Amino acid sequence: MSLIEIKVPDIGDFDSVEIIEVLVAEGDDVAENQDIITLESDKAAMEIPSSAAGKVASLKVKVGDKVSEGDVILTLEAADNAQSEPEKVEPAAATEPKAEAKAAPAPAPKAAAPVTDADMHAEVVVLGSGPGGYTAAFRAADLGKQVILIERYQRIGGVCLNVGCIPSKALLHTAQVLNETKHMAQNGVSFGEPKIDLRKLADWKDSVVGKLTGGLQGLAKQRKVTVVHGVGEFAGPNALKVTTDDGVKTISFDNCIIAAGSRVTKIPVFPNDDPRMMDSTDALELEDIPKRLLVIGGGIIGLEMATVYNALGSKISVVELQDSLIPGADKDIVKPLFNRIKEQYEAIYLNTKVSKIEPLKSGLKVTFEGDNAPEPQTFDKILVAVGRSPNGKLINAEAAGVAVNDYGFIEVNKQMQTNVPHIYAIGDIVGQPMLAHKATHEGKVAAEHITGRKVAFDAMTIPSVAYTDPEVAWMGMSEDEAKKQGVDYVKGAFPWAASGRSLSLDRDEGLTKALFEKETGKLIGAGIVGPNAGELIAEAVLALEMGADAEDIGLSIHPHPTLSETFAFAAEMAEGNITDLMPPRKTLHSK
Ligand SMILES: Cc1cc2nc3c(=O)[nH]c(=O)nc-3n(C[C@H](O)[C@H](O)[C@H](O)COP(=O)(O)OP(=O)(O)OC[C@H]3O[C@@H](n4cnc5c(N)ncnc54)[C@H](O)[C@@H]3O)c2cc1C
Repeated sequence: MSLIEIKVPDIGDFDSVEIIEVLVAEGDDVAENQDIITLESDKAAMEIPSSAAGKVASLKVKVGDKVSEGDVILTLEAADNAQSEPEKVEPAAATEPKAEAKAAPAPAPKAAAPVTDADMHAEVVVLGSGPGGYTAAFRAADLGKQVILIERYQRIGGVCLNVGCIPSKALLHTAQVLNETKHMAQNGVSFGEPKIDLRKLADWKDSVVGKLTGGLQGLAKQRKVTVVHGVGEFAGPNALKVTTDDGVKTISFDNCIIAAGSRVTKIPVFPNDDPRMMDSTDALELEDIPKRLLVIGGGIIGLEMATVYNALGSKISVVELQDSLIPGADKDIVKPLFNRIKEQYEAIYLNTKVSKIEPLKSGLKVTFEGDNAPEPQTFDKILVAVGRSPNGKLINAEAAGVAVNDYGFIEVNKQMQTNVPHIYAIGDIVGQPMLAHKATHEGKVAAEHITGRKVAFDAMTIPSVAYTDPEVAWMGMSEDEAKKQGVDYVKGAFPWAASGRSLSLDRDEGLTKALFEKETGKLIGAGIVGPNAGELIAEAVLALEMGADAEDIGLSIHPHPTLSETFAFAAEMAEGNITDLMPPRKTLHSK
């Protein structure tokens, strides 16, 4: 038995790079090319594989150490027959969307008696006109059904069109223009200080929403979908009671699709009635630009609104209970965003909780809790963005016998049927991820199943995007999940510092990473951070759905110079045939 020193190999131009993860412990058997540490520079994270097989005799490094080429990482006892195979694992399972943290299975309530004297009847009644509801209604109508769509507000389109995806993206576009014009000063092009007319900006944002919701109304009319405005709740297994401006109407149905969505989650101990306390809907109103804004919740919605208000001139602080922003995404694709906004914002407090908010004349005094909690501080306004709650408990579902779990979600099968087979549910009300594109796809499945088609919601992934600056997007299996599940994968990671297109945007912090199953080379997951990551992730989704492997992606000619090339380069990193960078040691073809 002999002792071998495993050293940091040639890591390109990098010197003194931090170790962010040690992947083996003393006594572990290590195979040749097995990753042993992860390094992270300000440009990219990279795994360092062992150059030999054996048992780890002693570890010479720890997390936080900085290393350079030639530094000893560990020593290995290399037995003569020490060619230990890494543990074999089954091929990655189809990447199912993350299951909702399960509440106890919802017991089926006893339905009320069927309603026999309805005011109106439809073959399909859809409750709620968000992206799930209007899609289901329109598809059912296109397939020949007579449809009624019930919506409590005057404008159809739900949260997404009215107070979610669309208005937030209109304001994020404004933020991008403000940021980019300011930034250009350092490249020789200066503009004057922007003059912001908040009312005009809000009107423009509203006009974008108006165009889309107006368009939907027109589409409903063309399809002869009857829209009833009022608050609906079940009256029995075959009818809903709708409270309209003209009184209560009973609408009976052959099939119903529940698409009643979700609402902002409130924290009851906060002074929610104080006008300086905002939720995402209030924040989108753009009433004023607070001097100091605290955003409670470092998830997608909180960070998107922080991006908007920061660009408009607020000093932003973000407080997040967990140890990273955008929990759910791999840390390496969130890091470039974190690094950028920590320079721009007043503060980002991780692992920190807001324990008290006192409304004072001078502002909202906030007390924080946690190991690194700051002293109490006063803010002009607070945005609470701590998640959304499903509306399952607000529609008297028990009258129809539809089971709703403790969280308010309605459980469904792959055809989107509830426990009452002629009643379906879709969108935010059936579970995470609460995203518009999930709702629309589920809406189509429900409508098509009602019309007798053999369909199922069997998407391999539902992509997620934070439209921050830089954008963060991911799909399929995350690297954290792959590690937890013991999946044998190879990562191809391409830092945008080597992308001509990214550099020409004067941005170099981006990263595209793609995970491939070692045995088959098939794509199992991808994460992208950088400008336009939200657009780029769609290619990865298509590749996953089509069963593409790294070779397929690398051999698909991508236009140059584009950011889309970075996905092909990530595949080439995994294949080992990259030429725009040095190929990594660990590839799909290394042992
Ligand atoms: C600020 C913000 C930004 C967002 N950005 C994005 C994004 O960029 N991309 C993305 O994919 N998702 C985004 N989302 C999430 C997205 O809006 C939701 O996932 C999506 O709207 C869910 O669609 P849905 O059809 O399930 O329900 P909803 O859009 O919630 O629609 C439900 C509808 O039902 C109506 N309703 C409810 N109860 C009743 C009742 N009893 N009677 C009559 N009508 C009723 C409601 O008024 C509503 O119109 C964002 C959300 C917010 C808040």
